[in-house]
Amino acid sequence: MNNFSYQKVSETADALDQISKCNLTQIIAGGTNIIDLWKYNLIQPKLLIDINGIEKFKRIQQTEDGGLFLGALATNSDTAYHMEVEKNYPLLSRAILAGASAQIRNSATNGGNILQRTRCYYFYDAASPCNKRKPGSGCPAKNGLNRMHAIVGTSEDCIAVFPSDMCVALAALEAVVHVVSSVGKREIKFSAFHRLPGNTPEIDNNLQPNEIITGISLPPEGFAENYSYLKLRDRNSYAFALVSVATGMKLENGLIQKIRIVLGGIAHKPWRVPEAEDFLIGKNPTAVNFASAAELILKDAKGFGDNDFKIELSKRAIVRNCIMAIHPETLRPGAQPSL
Ligand code: SF4
Repeated sequence: MNNFSYQKVSETADALDQISKCNLTQIIAGGTNIIDLWKYNLIQPKLLIDINGIEKFKRIQQTEDGGLFLGALATNSDTAYHMEVEKNYPLLSRAILAGASAQIRNSATNGGNILQRTRCYYFYDAASPCNKRKPGSGCPAKNGLNRMHAIVGTSEDCIAVFPSDMCVALAALEAVVHVVSSVGKREIKFSAFHRLPGNTPEIDNNLQPNEIITGISLPPEGFAENYSYLKLRDRNSYAFALVSVATGMKLENGLIQKIRIVLGGIAHKPWRVPEAEDFLIGKNPTAVNFASAAELILKDAKGFGDNDFKIELSKRAIVRNCIMAIHPETLRPGAQPSL
């Protein structure tokens, strides 16, 4: 048992002040991943900063431009069931409710969701080498158990995937992450928040150690008419995605005017290929065209043995989900889209 101090704060300034006091600080909110990491001895904080008392971080409110601001401390449940989210950003609501369990979603926060770490088995096993946990020690997943692992954006050093469902939808919605530090505020485009592993897989994202997430803003466009989130997994609940797809689409005169296609479960970050979206602009929303877009999205995909099946599964999931986005009524449980 490592000794640690616990500090509860109710103001942003106090949290930032506490962060500056010690190198081994750990912020805790919902704790749904932090406690796991701690129990597996992957983190050993000397100072635990509980930010649950910062009430303003719990707000969900409209922004001046007609978008929506999701506080970092709003829970995943409160976000998914918020009236404005259900009405204007149903893609986000669907994605959140596809993740974890009701009990976890009631505790997990929006800020924590985007900061959660990979669920690679080797990362959580302190007896295994792992470049993400101990840089330079190796990556046993490449030649080991890699059924859940990445097929795009991998590096020699790491093939882990980012496990969030919520973030796949946030990437499709082109959300912005708002952060604050002792030197001021900054905004990070969602596409630039998470990182690919490269030769520094220990760094998951571009949040700096002295920064705190205050919230996430959504633009006015929420794809409320044509959207779908499809999550393929080993069992129907409480399982991470093998492959997931978020699609938001705008149709005009029967043709695709705007489309976002983002995949989860296949990379170190939500995976979006703008070239494939551009290809679809002005085209008919047909299975043939979506299949061509899927080829573009997966053109550099590479399996590592156990996860080879994800390449074909991803392509089929893209086609199916884009068809479902044309007919959101097919999102009823058990309903099958007609291709
Ligand atoms: Fe570690 Fe990444 Fe390899 Fe998993 S895939 S063992 S997290 S380096």
